Amino acid sequence: MLIDTHAHLASPKFKGDVDEIIKNAADAGVDRIIAIACDLEDSPVNIELAEKYPGTVYATVGIHPCYAHEIATDDYISILRKLSTHEKVVAIGEIGLDYYHAPPTGFTGETWRTRQAEVFRAQLDLAVKVDLPVVVHQRDSNADTMAILNEYRGTSLRAVLHCFTYDIDHAKRAFDLGHLVSFTGVVTYPKAQDVQEMAALVDGNKFMVETDCPYLTPVPRRGKRCEPADTKHTAMHLAKLRGVDFESLASETTQTAEAFFKID
Ligand SMILES: [Zn+2]
Repeated sequence: MLIDTHAHLASPKFKGDVDEIIKNAADAGVDRIIAIACDLEDSPVNIELAEKYPGTVYATVGIHPCYAHEIATDDYISILRKLSTHEKVVAIGEIGLDYYHAPPTGFTGETWRTRQAEVFRAQLDLAVKVDLPVVVHQRDSNADTMAILNEYRGTSLRAVLHCFTYDIDHAKRAFDLGHLVSFTGVVTYPKAQDVQEMAALVDGNKFMVETDCPYLTPVPRRGKRCEPADTKHTAMHLAKLRGVDFESLASETTQTAEAFFKID
């Protein structure tokens, strides 16, 4: 059995299809799904999905760095804090820094980075306060992301660097702080040799598997809409890269995810 640790089930791309994709996932041996939030709109939707599919879907709440400008209210942290007390909420996320996309209207490069860092830190503080792990998004922002995570050294903060596509040294800096990484379908792409080399080297209990669906469909389904069932293709490819059998990779990554999100 596998856990898709990162699925955007509330995405409009899945509208009307959630029953079907959950069934497809179960058929593929993906029996649990962490529904990941990007803003204050999909956070409560994730909770509704978790209530509708008990034992299968778990929720996160949080604001993605690309939406850090959309917070119309200053009390977004108290809204998130309230949502986070729901028993189905297992993490704050996804949160982090994204320097890849251009700043939205009204921001310069610098003010946008400052805004993202402020929203990131506020949510890390919240996670420590409510004792939940965090799901971290980083894109073209490695040094700053790691510097901010470093500020929390010695606290109870536990993070997963999701969709990990960087080198083993970057991963080791995260492990040194007690954090984890997770791999998407990117690891199955023929051009992603660096990620594949890194995924072959990393310790077996330091990573999880995920889809980031509806994006990043793994080989051999590239070009189609990604869904939680595709976690299986990524896990099979990882097992091959690491020279281990699929069953042991599935059981080890599942145990890591159960411990990280405190689900059973
Ligand atoms: Zn995501």
